[in-house]
Parts: sequence; C-alpha cells; structure tokens
Amino acid sequence: MKYVDEFRDGRLIESAAKEIRRLADPGRHYRIMEVCGGHTHAIYRYGLKDLLPENIELVHGPGCPVCVLPMGRVDDGLDIAETSGAIFTAFGDMMRVPGSKGSPLEYKARGMDVRMVYSPLDALKIARQNPDRDVFFFAIGFETTAPSTALTLRQAKAIGVENFSVFSNHVTIIPAIRAILDSPDMRLDAFIGPGHVSTVIGCRPYEFIARDHGTPVVVSGFEPLDLMQSIVMILHQLNEGRSEVENQYARVVPWEGNLPALRALAEVFTLRPYFEWRGLGFISQSALGLSPAYAAFDAEVRYEVPGVRVTDPKAAQCGEVLKGVLKPHQCKLFGKECTPEHPIGALMVSSEGACAAEFQYRFRIEELEILEQ
Ligand code: SF4
Repeated sequence: MKYVDEFRDGRLIESAAKEIRRLADPGRHYRIMEVCGGHTHAIYRYGLKDLLPENIELVHGPGCPVCVLPMGRVDDGLDIAETSGAIFTAFGDMMRVPGSKGSPLEYKARGMDVRMVYSPLDALKIARQNPDRDVFFFAIGFETTAPSTALTLRQAKAIGVENFSVFSNHVTIIPAIRAILDSPDMRLDAFIGPGHVSTVIGCRPYEFIARDHGTPVVVSGFEPLDLMQSIVMILHQLNEGRSEVENQYARVVPWEGNLPALRALAEVFTLRPYFEWRGLGFISQSALGLSPAYAAFDAEVRYEVPGVRVTDPKAAQCGEVLKGVLKPHQCKLFGKECTPEHPIGALMVSSEGACAAEFQYRFRIEELEILEQ
C-alpha cells in the first residue's frame, strides 16, 4: 500500500495547498469543473475544499452515470422485466435509484426477480444457469464500463446464449462536456478531466476544449494529492496564458486510450442519434445502442419499450446540480425530503452523486458537530 499512502501524505498535500495559494490570483474567482463523480466523491471525502482558497470554486459535473439517467429509462427497464417475466440484473448502484413506481429494490420487495451483479459477466452466468428464463441486464455507465458490456456480449454471441439481453444506457462523456460548454449560464475556467473514462478514451478527445474554447483540461487521478496537483497544473496554465490538455494521471491513463477496449466498443455498439440526459436534455450522438450485429441481444429489439418520459418532482433540482449551476445544499429538498435513506433524485443514491457525497461528508458531519456542542 506504500504507493497509495504517498498520494494521501498530509505533508505533501499541505505543500500542494500552499502552492495553490501562491499561484491563485486573489483578485480572480476561479471556477473549475470536476467532470467525474469519482472526483466529486474524493473531494468531499478528503475535505479538499477546506484546503483551497475561497476564490477557487469546484463545480461538480455530470460524470455520475446513474445520476444522468432520466427516470423514464429506469421505468422502461423495470417495466420490460415485469411484463416479460425476465430476471432483472443490474449493478448495485442502480438498485436504489427511484423510478416513478419505485426502485429496483422496491420492485424486488414486491416480488419481481431482481438480482444485483458485480459485472455483466455475472448476468450472463445467471442466463446460462437459467436457460428457461430470460435474463435482462440493465447496463449503465460511461466509456469506463461499456467495454465490459461489449466483451460480455461478444462472449454471449460466441457461445450462443439466447436468453440473455442488454438494455443499454451507456453514455459518452464528450457530448455532455460539449453541452456544458455551450450552455449560456455556465462560465468555467478549467476542467479536471475524468480519470476513469480517460483510461479507455485517452486524452486526445479533450483537445477541442483547449483549442476551441481556450479552457485548460488536466486529466486527474483520484487520490487527494492527484487532485491538488491537478489544480496546481491548471493554475500554471491559466497564469501562463496556456490552454492545453495535460495528463496528471499518466501512471494509469495512456494518451491514446485503451485500443482493444475502443475496438470492442466500435464492434458492439453504435451511437444513438439522440439520448435524453437528466438535467441536460436530449444530446445528439451521446449514447450507445447495440449495433445491428448484436440485435439478437438488444432488449430494445426483443421487447416492446414503453418509452416513458417522466419529469422529476417539481421541487427537485437535480438538473441544476448536474449542470453545476447549483450546489447540492442549494436544492430545496437537500437533507429534508431528500436524504440517502429516502432519496428523491439519483444524485442522492449513487456513491458518485454530488448530493450523496455532500450529505455524507459535510452535512452529516456538521449535524454531528452541532449535536456534540
Ligand atoms: S437533494 Fe435530492 S432532489 Fe435535490 S438535487 Fe439532490 S438528489 Fe435531486
């Protein structure tokens, strides 16, 4: 564990914080978006905001795959499994995500066969163990998890598993970043680029952000020192008038990405013309559907999809939080009607959700401190 320990070394983190204070212009307000939900979680978990000067604002981005899924897609997946009698499988992150008639766990409590899996391969295994039942995998995630779905589908095809299908909700990060950059109410000075997604897509796809928008991008790791160092790199770029893509996470992220994974994605998936994102609306070419070669495994071909569109409860401000316009605690429901125990929006469910992270690492601690006084 020596390697990780060094990235959590308090003295190194404090010296990075000093460097940030030295580099930050006190007359300027910096807005830096961390795109990835894993970064949001790490920022709250390690209390990094408390180490930054007040004029550096971290804006949470849309990189939590469960959070950007509109409620209608959750309803669609649950409806397909319920009416067809298929076994519903999904990652643990999905289990408590509310649909309009309940979460997968609530459907399970009502008697539906819902099973949590750790990988799509587990879902395929369930299909092979239950040849007389249809098994349906509710796939979510960015380019980080899409390759594991692609490789599972390759395997299902190779061994001819006929009772297995995938309901793909995989999304791609670049169109979402484009939508944020085009949003008139959003001013950003820089991006902390997503570490997990970049292990697959590499750094090259972010070059348009630096070139066309003059906005620096630093792809970052997830340890506290990674994030502090990434902010140092961003401030150097801003102070020197540069806008480039830099790779702080070079120990994991190859500049050109993971070519075998990208090939698997290109074979199994095709870009959908449009897909709805919670908070960002319909974004063209932003999601992955199964390619015609894998139509036999496509739940949207095999079953009738209701195509439900559900708006979030009126008072819920998930969309504004996802776009970085509001901080989680600025939502009217935060910590009152909406808590991790009784979530109203998916941002309060997923470990990568900004609301869950703020509630767990800030709100709850502040509440405990008040109780102890
Ligand atoms: S507190 Fe709940 S309702 Fe409000 S933005 Fe967060 S998840 Fe959505």
